[in-house]
Amino acid sequence: MKNVFVVGAGPAGLFAAQKIALAGHQVFLFNRDIKPGGLAEYGIYPLKDKMKFGLRKQFAKVLGLPNVHYFGHVKIGDGYDLTLDDLRAMNPSAIVFSCGAQGYNELGLPGENSAGVYSAKDFVYAYNQLPPYASMDFSTGKRVAIIGMGNVAADIMRWLLRDNPHRKTEEVIVVARRGPYEAKFDKKEIGYVEEYIPREEFLRELDRIRETCAACNQDLSVEKLGDATFPFLTKTFPAEERPRLTFRFLSSPKEILAGSDGRIEKLVVTENDLALRANGSTAARATDRTAVLDVDTLIFAIGDKHDPTVGLPMGPDGYATKPAPDSSTETIYEAWDPAINEPLPGIYVVGWARRASTGLVGIARHDGEEGAKKVLEYLQGQPEQDSLSTEELLAELQAKGLTPVTNQDLEILGKIEEQQARERNLTSFKYSDDDTMLQAIQNERGVLATR
Ligand SMILES: Cc1cc2nc3c(=O)[nH]c(=O)nc-3n(C[C@H](O)[C@H](O)[C@H](O)COP(=O)(O)OP(=O)(O)OC[C@H]3O[C@@H](n4cnc5c(N)ncnc54)[C@H](O)[C@@H]3O)c2cc1C
Repeated sequence: MKNVFVVGAGPAGLFAAQKIALAGHQVFLFNRDIKPGGLAEYGIYPLKDKMKFGLRKQFAKVLGLPNVHYFGHVKIGDGYDLTLDDLRAMNPSAIVFSCGAQGYNELGLPGENSAGVYSAKDFVYAYNQLPPYASMDFSTGKRVAIIGMGNVAADIMRWLLRDNPHRKTEEVIVVARRGPYEAKFDKKEIGYVEEYIPREEFLRELDRIRETCAACNQDLSVEKLGDATFPFLTKTFPAEERPRLTFRFLSSPKEILAGSDGRIEKLVVTENDLALRANGSTAARATDRTAVLDVDTLIFAIGDKHDPTVGLPMGPDGYATKPAPDSSTETIYEAWDPAINEPLPGIYVVGWARRASTGLVGIARHDGEEGAKKVLEYLQGQPEQDSLSTEELLAELQAKGLTPVTNQDLEILGKIEEQQARERNLTSFKYSDDDTMLQAIQNERGVLATR
């Protein structure tokens, strides 16, 4: 038996934990958020109830294993609750980092810090009720620009146009570097908002870029494009007064101009040409033409990156992993220190912590499990250990002034939230700030102690 620490209880970390625990080891999970699930809880669209309920059930099963010990509300990293050195000092046989990709690619533009400019991840965290984002200002106005054309952007369109209970949005303008064939969202995801796209205006936008796209062998006919990325083109929708979803293709953000109140007022975009690469893909090439869009909110969904404060050495693509042997396609999970060209023995990265923004929950699960297999191989060569005492670990964390949330606390919180949902006649209810959750757990513990 060995003790293994897992940092991050999203899908990758939880399924890695399951695999390691089922092999007979003790697993100690440290998670920044009070609740487990990561982006499965706080990223996946709030109305995907069935998927969320299903995943929560699977996560609860993992946390129900007798040798999986959960410590939520504990953030690992330099300047946070525990550092990597603190973890090492507890002498685990291996540490698995599954903390996802908590940073994001910035636009790098003048005016980026204006009010009303948000990263997509923060915005999504807020509408999914993740503390502290849920209590921060993510107000949206009447005209919202979204930078990016992936599934995260599609979720945000859906929220702004349909489901935001404080909706003021009259127009969402999607600003895309390249053309309509380069849209990366799934047809199902754009399907939730396609009726909001004003057909005539979309066709005018296609006319504006037709010649440039044709030079790259792209046929912007309604049939071809409808089949490839914009199915709405081959459908009809009943006429109705609705907010509008418009597209500004072949445009890259150049500058953000704020009004006297400090909030974004205009987005200046550079118009792009499209170039054909040798492999058939396309690249945007900036021209000297610009255009100005009147917007009061801008949300950028241009990908995530790793949080360097976690304490792992960084490489060109995030946390460094051991270089793969030449021409090998093997996935490498072992962390690496590029400064000395040596692996970090016993330290592994899985899921979005290994590669940011790659795929759906199923892919993160698979990555966690494959990484766990490598951990198990490594553990075979390590000396046997006594199990760390959960009580002692808990006491140690509490002595540092931390308020870790355990498996048992999660069960208590789950029951309290179920009760709240029943009282409010909702299918589900979740608290959106840490203090309320901690207080609710504390109160219930007090009640249980007096029984
Ligand atoms: C907006 C959005 C919508 C999505 N929608 C879908 C969908 O509909 N269907 C689908 O299948 N997939 C969807 N995905 C993808 C899916 O959420 C991811 O594939 C998956 O959650 C990645 O899992 P992970 O465990 O690697 O990382 P994460 O889910 O990000 O989990 C990371 C965990 O680490 C913890 N953590 C972070 N930093 C620290 C730290 N320093 N110390 C301790 N703990 C830390 C966090 O609290 C979190 O619990 C969506 C993703 C996004 C962004």
